[in-house]
Amino acid sequence: MFVFEQQRKTPVADSYDVIVCGGGPAGIIAAVAAARNGAKTLLIERYGFVGGMATAALVTPVSEFYKNGKRIIDGMPYELMERAGRLGGADITFESGNYPIDDEVFKLAAQRMLLESGVTLLYHSFFAGCITTDGHISHVIVQNKAGRVAYRGKVFVDCTGDADVVRAAGYKAVKEATLQPATLWFQLSGVDTKALEEQGLFNDAVNDQLPVSHRIRNRLSELNRKGEMPLFGGPWISKGFNEGTVSINLLREATDASFPEQFTKTECSLRDKLFRVVEIMRENFPEFRNCRILKSGVQTGVRETYHIVGMYQLTADDVINPKPFPDTIAKGAHVIDIHKPDSTDQELVVLEQEYNIPYGIMVPYNSKNIITAGRTVCADEAAFGTVRVMAVCMAMGQAAGTAAAIAVQKDLAMSKMDIPLLVKTLKDQGAVIDFDNCRN
Ligand SMILES: Cc1cc2nc3c(=O)[nH]c(=O)nc-3n(C[C@H](O)[C@H](O)[C@H](O)COP(=O)(O)OP(=O)(O)OC[C@H]3O[C@@H](n4cnc5c(N)ncnc54)[C@H](O)[C@@H]3O)c2cc1C
Repeated sequence: MFVFEQQRKTPVADSYDVIVCGGGPAGIIAAVAAARNGAKTLLIERYGFVGGMATAALVTPVSEFYKNGKRIIDGMPYELMERAGRLGGADITFESGNYPIDDEVFKLAAQRMLLESGVTLLYHSFFAGCITTDGHISHVIVQNKAGRVAYRGKVFVDCTGDADVVRAAGYKAVKEATLQPATLWFQLSGVDTKALEEQGLFNDAVNDQLPVSHRIRNRLSELNRKGEMPLFGGPWISKGFNEGTVSINLLREATDASFPEQFTKTECSLRDKLFRVVEIMRENFPEFRNCRILKSGVQTGVRETYHIVGMYQLTADDVINPKPFPDTIAKGAHVIDIHKPDSTDQELVVLEQEYNIPYGIMVPYNSKNIITAGRTVCADEAAFGTVRVMAVCMAMGQAAGTAAAIAVQKDLAMSKMDIPLLVKTLKDQGAVIDFDNCRN
């Protein structure tokens, strides 16, 4: 059943060269890159802060800047980590290049970087639609407390994570038959972090190979088999930035977050389970005997929904046997990491070396003035299992924002990008493309 909405006269609030929708890791860096390359840039974000999954969902290890001792992601993403580090909210000494962050500091560091780069921020505004003529997007429409408001733009960067803009503009996006599960991440206080530290738990941001990790996992598995413990993954426990606090990735549930009714049920169910699980932690592990919930994510963490149908699809073979793409714009190296929605398992493939990421996976097929970055890019199930991590999302963000600024300056369609100029600009601004400019 359908109803027809009345035609509306929507005010146009302002006009920008580049409009980035979604202020997660990809969108933050895309907006910074566009602005630093001369574009008048607007970043639209539904929450009152940036960071996406890193802050709203408390996903606090940012993976992964190093491979085999080489820094494979640098430039603006690394600058953001250094800024967070200087504010005391990121530990960038971890050799794995898998950096723990303090979500509150990350919000501030990213916001400052955006504002200092000249980006205009629009918080509390939900991207709600766009105006398109012959595939060319002229405006995005946001819904906020002022009502429905339009912003005119020349190039649009979709960093919503769910391809909201791409789909609204009429371009194709698809979902895997089986989506990775969602996780309500939480932080605890009152934990005996000294005892956990003595057992080596915090030696690296994610360390599930230690006896202490096995002890916790085995006990939780036993309880899960008896029906006393909800479905879980890991658990991956990282040290909080305040004494006695930890950040835990554990609860998981199968869902499709692109259906709000279904995702609401997931939120309700996981919130209920969270309190049960914390009780279980108190009862079963002496280090957690006095723990309390410090906070949980503003939202349950979403690993994936829609992927665009791009000019190119990154495949498992491309990441396992790296290809020298002519349009390489970034590198990645994180393990292929596919969480199972219906069991405590995880499919992991460790990559021997870093791989190349081509520009074409960010551009919707047949599109004109739109590009994406982050977890919505065009990749098969396995390739997505590695490009989805935040350092890689940020590196793609730098490429997308830079490309958007170049497209505005040279009046280019995103599909006809000046790749040599894009690559040169990225390298001049610190991005690692071919290791000419690699810092160790
Ligand atoms: C449980 C879990 C564990 C993970 N573990 C790790 C890990 O250990 N290391 C790692 O590096 N990565 C990890 N990831 C992956 C990583 O967090 C995400 O893939 C990454 O954050 C994606 O970045 P993004 O910018 O593409 O999207 P997101 O982080 O999802 O950001 C999207 C942004 O867009 C905004 N937005 C969405 N729709 C709209 C709209 N219509 N209007 C306005 N704003 C909108 C959102 O509020 C958000 O700020 C994990 C993810 C989850 C869920």
